[in-house]
Amino acid sequence: MKITIIGCYSAMPKIGNNLSSQVIEIQNEIFLIDCGEGTQVGLRKNKVKFSRIKHIFISHLHGDHYFGLIGLICTFSLLNRSADLNIYGPTGIKDLIINQIKASSSWTKYRLIFHELCSEKSESIFISDYIQVFTIPLSHRIYTNGFLFKEINLPRKINIDAVHDSNVSIAYSNKLKQGFDVVNENGILINNHLLTFEGFSPKSYAYCSDTEYHESIVKVISNCDALYHESTFLEKHKVLSKTTKHSTAKQAGKIARLANVNLLILGHYSSRYDNINDFKTEAETEFNNVLLSEDNKIIEI
Ligand SMILES: [Zn+2]
Ligand SMILES: [Zn+2]
Repeated sequence: MKITIIGCYSAMPKIGNNLSSQVIEIQNEIFLIDCGEGTQVGLRKNKVKFSRIKHIFISHLHGDHYFGLIGLICTFSLLNRSADLNIYGPTGIKDLIINQIKASSSWTKYRLIFHELCSEKSESIFISDYIQVFTIPLSHRIYTNGFLFKEINLPRKINIDAVHDSNVSIAYSNKLKQGFDVVNENGILINNHLLTFEGFSPKSYAYCSDTEYHESIVKVISNCDALYHESTFLEKHKVLSKTTKHSTAKQAGKIARLANVNLLILGHYSSRYDNINDFKTEAETEFNNVLLSEDNKIIEI
């Protein structure tokens, strides 16, 4: 699983501070989470092939998380896209996008498929052979979801020597990877476990932005391999975090500890701070494996 941080700052674009957006690459599929202004340029910088983006997840309708979406949709048109584009986001996102397209008398030649979300409970919103995505209901000034990406049913690894010794045709590779027993050249059914090893252990990644300190998410994200949790403020501005319904780095650290995750990634920093290392220092008072997200940083899980 590879996470490319396109932008990790809050509120408004500044030179060198990109707004929220990440690309998640899992099992050869690409997912875009949030699409703040400037995301297209960030995608170009990171050499993300636009045609590979088929699913976009928008956490909420504050501008720093979706103002780049209409631009990206229009660029897809200019690039003659024909593949469907799925957009997952709060109820209202469809009208917002369609109205902007209508106002400019343009249209997309590809299908825009909206999956509007309104549940206050975690729900499965995407599933493929190897990946499932759940919402993480957050607590912010408007309806907001984080997203939990989970690898599922990962393929088993073939034991080439065992396949050869058991006289099994390599034409059965896909069946073997999927866990099926197969018949060998002598007509004998061979147990899959004699021919394969366990696959890679499935990884999970939780994206939580924006939210105030919200312990209810712990049960949804518990034991995940990596948690991106917003840390807009430091404790010295805790009052601001309360009124704006954001979190401090220390609170993000506490959530990571309670959820027993492996790695905490901080982000959504307010641009009032000159040194983001202070966020790491503060979160480490609660949790000891903290990484700072930075624009254009790649994180392998
Ligand atoms: Zn934000
Ligand atoms: Zn927000």
